[in-house]
Amino acid sequence: MRCKKCPQRAAIKLPQHNISFCKDCFTEFVHSQVAKAIKSQKMFTPEDHILVAVSGGKDSLALWAILLKLGYHADALYLDLGIGNYSVQSRHKVDHFHETVAQPQGATLHIHTLAENEGAGVKELATMMHRPTCSTCGTMKRYHFNRAALEKDYDVMATGHNLDDEAARLLGNVLRWQTEFLDKQTPTLPASVDGFAKKVKPLYRLTEREMAAYAVINKISYIVDECPMAKGSKMLVYKDVLNRLETESPGTKQSFYLKFLDKQAKEQASTGSITSHDQQRLTPCQTCGQPTSMEVCTYCKMMAKAKAHV
Ligand code: SF4
Ligand code: ZN
Repeated sequence: MRCKKCPQRAAIKLPQHNISFCKDCFTEFVHSQVAKAIKSQKMFTPEDHILVAVSGGKDSLALWAILLKLGYHADALYLDLGIGNYSVQSRHKVDHFHETVAQPQGATLHIHTLAENEGAGVKELATMMHRPTCSTCGTMKRYHFNRAALEKDYDVMATGHNLDDEAARLLGNVLRWQTEFLDKQTPTLPASVDGFAKKVKPLYRLTEREMAAYAVINKISYIVDECPMAKGSKMLVYKDVLNRLETESPGTKQSFYLKFLDKQAKEQASTGSITSHDQQRLTPCQTCGQPTSMEVCTYCKMMAKAKAHV
């Protein structure tokens, strides 16, 4: 099997595009998909400063690598969740990538450790607050990434969500008809005047398989294991269902999510409404100053509960 673009032997077949590529042309293909995402969704310009949320996984490290290769100013933030060996390993991958790839290109890695700053890892904090670990983790991530982007003066925050993540999330929202979440499921969420940073997902056109292949071909060392807390999560079930559909009918994931975006864009153009972080009025949290629709934000309420438990 030959590469579609050059005489070399193909290294990867992409059934949803009916194309095969050699390693170099596949890398170029991934870069072109990211460039297309950035341009078509007005994510950022070469002048902007980007903060990438890195976890040590293939998607976020590949995203950081791609943005640097494309010539963007991209720094990163790693949130150390304190989940035993998983966090030790993922931190190791992030540090290694920073030292060998990002730092030589002038990029900075910021690290926020929950055990040091919040007094405990995410599992322990969740137990103190009587909340599920993943919802506690979600609040911590949203809070710290937004706060870091604003306080460190970044123009935009980028996450490594890929097409599989977005299609699975869309399926979950559609199955429960959570239209309020559907409105916000765009690859670019503009900054709000009340203090939420602009958020973008430059990998939304690329599948999980493509990102894993990109990381391997480009020798990015990443943590292969999923977070142990993800076991039994609905998202993994939705991804599995979509993968089975994809095997039967290549291109299903792509048409499901990208056609949803097309329809959403047409609707917004006809109604003139723009998706923003929240339609509610936001005010600064009385404790920390971060934007919230309540007097005290969810993070500060959670931390007050955790402190009361100690
Ligand atoms: Fe956080 Fe849950 Fe994801 Fe683990 S699986 S990183 S605890 S949200
Ligand atoms: Zn607060």
